[in-house]
Amino acid sequence: MADTWITDIGHFLNEKGELPKKMSGHARSLTMYFGKIIEAASKQGNFGNEARTDIPCRRKPGNRKCGAAITASVQADSSIHWRCPACGDNGIISGWRDTAWDMRLKLGNPKDGRPKDIKDAKNYRLLR
Ligand SMILES: [Zn+2]
Repeated sequence: MADTWITDIGHFLNEKGELPKKMSGHARSLTMYFGKIIEAASKQGNFGNEARTDIPCRRKPGNRKCGAAITASVQADSSIHWRCPACGDNGIISGWRDTAWDMRLKLGNPKDGRPKDIKDAKNYRLLR
């Protein structure tokens, strides 16, 4: 059975928004995995569109690494939905905005971080 991971990434970070120094290796690798998904979803800028990432699925059905490329999208409620098209592992990430993995501001004008056209502006506003 595939799992659904409901994650508020803020719960994995300290008050500075950083990975805590005291963290198990497993928790750290899981947080970095979610972080990569946040980066991939927030930088694509296509609101609601599911896009393939280059992040390999970490699940091991039957003890064999799945490794298929995860897909991810930012939804209307600004949560990030991700799933593995091969094994069905999936999850929902909230609390990712303004973390180090939030790539939204890098989509716009590099000078002031604002959107560069109307489509971007719409996405930008929806994602704020
Ligand atoms: Zn998989």
